[in-house]
Amino acid sequence: MVIKFQISLTIKLGLSCLVAFLCAFFNPTYAESQKQLLINGQQIEVLIDPQHQLTIDQVIDQKNLNWEYSKFETPSYGFSPHTYWLRFTLPAQKFETILDLDYALLDYIAYYRLQNNNIIESIFTGDKHKFSDRPIQHRSFLFPIPASDHNQTIILKIRSSSAIQVPLSLWPEKTFFEHDQYLFVEHGIYYGIALVMVLYNFFLFLRLRDSAYGFYVFYVLTFAFVQLSLSGFSYQFIWPNSPEWNEKSLSVLTPLIIVSAAIFSSNFLKLANYYPQFNKLLYIQVFIGIAISVFSVYFPYQIMIPYAAGLAILACLSIFLISYYVMLKSMYKYAIYFAAAWSIFLVGVVILAMNKFGFLPRTWVTESAAQIGSAIEIILLSFALAERLYDAMQRRFIAEDESLLIKEELIRTQQKQNLILENEVTKRTQDLEEALNKVKLLNNELSDLSTIDQVTGIRNRRYFDDMLEKEFRRALRNRSSLSLIMLDLDHFKNVNDTHGHLAGDLCLKTIANSIYNIVKRPPDLVCRYGGEEIAIILPDTDHKGAMVIAERIRHHIENLQIKFSGKTIPITTSLGVASFVPNNNKTTNLLIELADKALYQAKYDGRNCTRSA
Ligand code: GH3
Ligand code: MG
Ligand code: MG
Repeated sequence: MVIKFQISLTIKLGLSCLVAFLCAFFNPTYAESQKQLLINGQQIEVLIDPQHQLTIDQVIDQKNLNWEYSKFETPSYGFSPHTYWLRFTLPAQKFETILDLDYALLDYIAYYRLQNNNIIESIFTGDKHKFSDRPIQHRSFLFPIPASDHNQTIILKIRSSSAIQVPLSLWPEKTFFEHDQYLFVEHGIYYGIALVMVLYNFFLFLRLRDSAYGFYVFYVLTFAFVQLSLSGFSYQFIWPNSPEWNEKSLSVLTPLIIVSAAIFSSNFLKLANYYPQFNKLLYIQVFIGIAISVFSVYFPYQIMIPYAAGLAILACLSIFLISYYVMLKSMYKYAIYFAAAWSIFLVGVVILAMNKFGFLPRTWVTESAAQIGSAIEIILLSFALAERLYDAMQRRFIAEDESLLIKEELIRTQQKQNLILENEVTKRTQDLEEALNKVKLLNNELSDLSTIDQVTGIRNRRYFDDMLEKEFRRALRNRSSLSLIMLDLDHFKNVNDTHGHLAGDLCLKTIANSIYNIVKRPPDLVCRYGGEEIAIILPDTDHKGAMVIAERIRHHIENLQIKFSGKTIPITTSLGVASFVPNNNKTTNLLIELADKALYQAKYDGRNCTRSA
């Protein structure tokens, strides 16, 4: 939200600056007030004095001097060590005028006003003099010329380590100051734009911590300072008492524009990541720029400034070409803004250069072209920064959306997986439970098996002991009677001896099955007690009932026709019956003892009978 608001604010700010700038540009009153009396280059005679020998008197008096009319609209001689004398004549004038020499970098200017070859006024100025020495405290060199009935000749002697340029114009005093106000507003708008952009982007830099904003601020600052120096503002307002620094300021600051512009471009277009060769190229220029800037502190202006200018042209071109390359490669909106910014700036510079070299007329537009271009550039670069931020935000939003989708997908997959896992676990648990049940069943079967006698198929002694104990306790609880029949086969030894052990086993098995079929009530239990002894537990059965069952068994066995190898084996049994209602004084052993005693009695009484205790 905040960032979006900041972007829209930046755009609005940029737009309002642009509108203000354009208003000034198309202001009709401004155009009308521009009634200056331009001094045409062809009206000016120039005399070059390479040895700096000529004095003003010689210049005035000597007839054989090599005066020549200037070839250019604005006399310009580039970087030249010579002394230049300029001479032109003003017609009689009814009002006071101002001669404006609008090139703030000239070192030494001697101004002479003559009437009839007599010096009426002389002024010595230039940026090697203190600012306060100027006749009119103004960023450009102004010379007031009073009204006169006669022609007046002006002679200027100029020597400078800067380029020799002498743009002259003559103004009615009133018009000059009216016009100057517009110029001041124009500059004000330019520096206002620069200042607002610097402050605003500096705050963005502090807030967003994106170094691109910092380098943008650095670039705009260095550029604005060079502009201030070029136009004479910095000497007028910032360092009026330091002519030495004023001279060096340009050659120190100009390379810093390259440094800042190259770092900013590299950072803005992310060259280090995507175009390392371009990045290298720009950083080489950065280091050369720093070197020139540092050397400029110690070496004279006229030596250093050509290097600075050369590097500036190189840097300008390389940034311009790189920006186009990146723009065409990526087609990102911010790269388009960036390339557009540099293009407009370059167009401005080219227009100014064509004006200076005389290919274009010297008008307000051609004079201000670089500044207009630079203002639009500064604004467009700020747009580019905003667009770049917007682009980054957009990407972040897309990435966030994507990661959100991925997260959701992940959660869905996880839920699915969980469901599958749950099902799997339930199934496994069911399987396990089934397996466990099987094992339990098997165990039961096993334990059943371990309680079953192998020969007869009825329960064995171990089971008998357990069950007798259980039934005893139940009978104790219920106060019901418990009976036990002990059965022993008669003369069984003889059976074995006569028919063999297999026959004996068969008998045992047959008898056991018979008893099992006779004793049908569910709690009743038939067990093999010992060798050929069978015990029958009869819960909830009194003595009388037990005797009936015992007799039924005995009778049944007596009538059994057990056949082995074609022979019938006759077999009888003796049975002992014991019954009681258990109480705390009685035990299972007592019951067994009693039954045993009764059995013994049956044997004693002749076998094949039932006795009770
Ligand atoms: P009694 O009438 O006095 O009981 O005479 P008995 O021969 O049966 O004597 P006893 O009760 O001492 O019987 C023991 C005999 O039972 C010894 C053995 O020959 C036979 N016997 C015991 N267990 C088995 C068995 O598992 N199989 C076979 N075939 N015979 C057995
Ligand atoms: Mg026996
Ligand atoms: Mg026996």
